[in-house]
Amino acid sequence: MRILIVEDEHDLSMILSETLELEGYYADAAYDGVSGLDNALSGIYDVIILDIMLPGMDGIQVLSEIRRNKMTTPVLMLTAKSEIDDKINGLDKGADDYLTKPFNTKELLARIRALSRRRDKIMIDDCLRFSDVVLYKETCEMCRNEQKIKLTKKEFDILEILILNQGKTVSKESLTVKIWGYETDVEYNSIEVYISFLRKKLSAIESKIQIKTVWGKGYTIKEQKNGD
Ligand code: CA
Repeated sequence: MRILIVEDEHDLSMILSETLELEGYYADAAYDGVSGLDNALSGIYDVIILDIMLPGMDGIQVLSEIRRNKMTTPVLMLTAKSEIDDKINGLDKGADDYLTKPFNTKELLARIRALSRRRDKIMIDDCLRFSDVVLYKETCEMCRNEQKIKLTKKEFDILEILILNQGKTVSKESLTVKIWGYETDVEYNSIEVYISFLRKKLSAIESKIQIKTVWGKGYTIKEQKNGD
């Protein structure tokens, strides 16, 4: 799981990163609102920890922009005690939870776990539905009616990301980072290869799902309508 920390107090940010990494999460840090928003919009994060008082653009503005871009990534707002009103404001703007500074580590980790569970709710009964297809996480199978095909773990993960981001274009870079992580020497073209495997498998089960290439931008998933 990859977590973005948007917090301008470097010491606090570092403690947060270390705590999260000890728990096995990947953590990235941004120290102001503008770069925080940039990072958030990459779509590669599972949870965002967002401070309210930030230079450049405050946390409430960052959150509004995230939600305006139709991103549903769970957001945990950090507030100082004196900013109680901001809390209410943050929740109105679509924050999923908030934590008052100073907070203890256990409390933070409990909140993160709760938020990631909420995100997983979209995976009902360990399966994910889109258009005419059902994906089974446990077995990495993709089914349409009686037709069934096995996906590799990477193919499954790529398709899952595209489905979770339906209606949006996912860039090659963010797919690569999400699947292989930042420190990787994976070929930039690998994603293209996996996408072409996925397209073949989708057409093998005669699915209406199409993975469209948006030139210069990335990929988007669509359901083919009659007459397309
Ligand atoms: Ca701050």
